[in-house]
Amino acid sequence: ELSQRLKTVVDYFPEKARVADIGSDHAYLPCYAIIEKKAVFAIAGEVVEGPYQSACTHVQGLALTKDISVRKGNGLAVINSEDKINTIVIAGMGGPLIRSILEAEPQRLTDNMRLILQPNVAANSIREWAQLNQYQIISETILEEDEKIYEILVLEKSATTVSYNTNEIKFGPFLQNEKSTTFIKFWKSERTTLQTIIKRIEKGSQNEASHAKITTLQQRIQEIDEVLA
Ligand code: SAM
Repeated sequence: ELSQRLKTVVDYFPEKARVADIGSDHAYLPCYAIIEKKAVFAIAGEVVEGPYQSACTHVQGLALTKDISVRKGNGLAVINSEDKINTIVIAGMGGPLIRSILEAEPQRLTDNMRLILQPNVAANSIREWAQLNQYQIISETILEEDEKIYEILVLEKSATTVSYNTNEIKFGPFLQNEKSTTFIKFWKSERTTLQTIIKRIEKGSQNEASHAKITTLQQRIQEIDEVLA
């Protein structure tokens, strides 16, 4: 059974989705999408040999080689124009890594592609990339599964300038408006982490650098308090 996290990613596929799942690992997501008829074609991209082999094995085992092309390569490099990809998935990695994959081969991205991104941490780096590259965040979700909280961001190329304020970049334009119980839980836990770090620094030897660090962390706590208020 596919995780709720990846099922939610699939829920954002457009009609007649032609998907590139970058960093596909076992190719679970493309297999599910093809079997459930949520996609008509998929590429499972992997840069590491082990996961690439497990993707091949899984796709062959389910007899899906006609609909899923497993390719070994770095990031977006596995996508060619004749694949007519309209949906890109990059899930289960840190936000900065997802961003670096998008930045490495920007020429592979075409304006008709919907990007469905699921950063494990630092979603802000993806929202910054979206703003800089004129992608609109068309939807966001936050969900909890197995005691972990995940954010999913859906991006589409915009014809007009995209601009987000600092709170929108940090918390997400949709997520901070909704303020779901999961969102509140996520940021309360982040707040607790920041406070733990402050306490640890306070126990150590105090100097100018440690004071500056504490001030920065306190500012971040204050930002969280303002959004949760
Ligand atoms: N996408 C799956 C998911 O969300 O469950 C798998 C996530 S797994 C933690 C991350 C995968 O991305 C690993 O299999 C890793 O080899 C692959 N990966 C990391 N960097 C990559 C890159 N630049 N290009 C392709 N795959 C990459």
